Amino acid sequence: MAEKRDYYEVLGVEKNATDEDLKKAYRKLAKKYHPDVNPSEEAAEKFKEASEAYSILSDPQKRQQYDQFGHAAFNGGAGYGGFDFNSSGMGDIFGDIFGDLFGGGRTSSRRANPNAPMRGANVRTSVSISFEEAVFGCTKQIEINFREECPTCKGSGAKAGTSPETCSRCHGTGRVVTTQQSIFGMMQTETVCPECRGGGRIIREKCPDCHGTGYTSKRQKIDVQIPAGIDNGIAVRVKDKGEPGVNGGPRGDLLVEVRVSRHPIFQRDDMDLYSTAAVSFTKAALGGKIRIKTIDGDVEYEVKAGTQTDTKIRLRGKGVPSVRNSKRRGDHYVTLVVQVPTKLTREQKKALKSYAEAMGEA
Ligand SMILES: [Zn+2]
Ligand SMILES: [Zn+2]
Repeated sequence: MAEKRDYYEVLGVEKNATDEDLKKAYRKLAKKYHPDVNPSEEAAEKFKEASEAYSILSDPQKRQQYDQFGHAAFNGGAGYGGFDFNSSGMGDIFGDIFGDLFGGGRTSSRRANPNAPMRGANVRTSVSISFEEAVFGCTKQIEINFREECPTCKGSGAKAGTSPETCSRCHGTGRVVTTQQSIFGMMQTETVCPECRGGGRIIREKCPDCHGTGYTSKRQKIDVQIPAGIDNGIAVRVKDKGEPGVNGGPRGDLLVEVRVSRHPIFQRDDMDLYSTAAVSFTKAALGGKIRIKTIDGDVEYEVKAGTQTDTKIRLRGKGVPSVRNSKRRGDHYVTLVVQVPTKLTREQKKALKSYAEAMGEA
């Protein structure tokens, strides 16, 4: 493994950088290298490197350890080597950075103000594809329920000529404070306003087209580009095809989980393929050409004389392409299975008997 770069150098900041400097530097790098923005392998590495640097330097205690001991502070016992920016703890650190950068889908704490713009929820669905479609990529058309702002009331939910009123109970905040007597004395609790159910607005006369919901739903066909090399269970993200945002917020995304069918001949493990190929008993003994089925079609293979059953061969580059870089492909491993003849003619039997004699077996 290459020498680890200095964390300050990774973020391009001075040793005395403030928290604000670090955040700014990291934001800049994340905007450039985040996998949602830049899917290349190099970017993924850069993003990981920057995320690791930021996670350490943004934590005052870890930063102090790093300043004192360098990378050695996190090697060995602590085992920081297996850095994973998806692990739960990291979410909190990056939440506020990615929150506004990518539309807030990652932040867990929701702002209380019901009138603030809010990103729509992601919608999940799935699509079934064949083994070959997963290997080579494909375009699949799917149909979804696409919710949109109601064109009649422009999303307000109120009948034409009327408009929603600000809730008088919570004054539009969507939340009410109640005071209760408890064994600890007077307790104040904040709850969702029961009058407007947290929306902050009340619709007296509902729009007839959307029944006051502010949304209409219609079936929509969407072409989903499925990249070559995708594996079973992986979701493809289709931007802005999720639920509509609230108060002018952006739409959520559509996440299409891919279900890949099994193949009668090939088994897949990540980027590699596995299969078996039959070799006749005589070809195994004398050597010769056989045809092997690969995902690219049949290939000819020269079996060496004296090949034993269970011999494994590797067909380089005949595996599955990498999702990130379709020019890189895995390998295809073939197990040769020597076939012992079961139905023999009288002539074949005679030939084998004389073979046995020659071998001193008869
Ligand atoms: Zn409407
Ligand atoms: Zn209310």
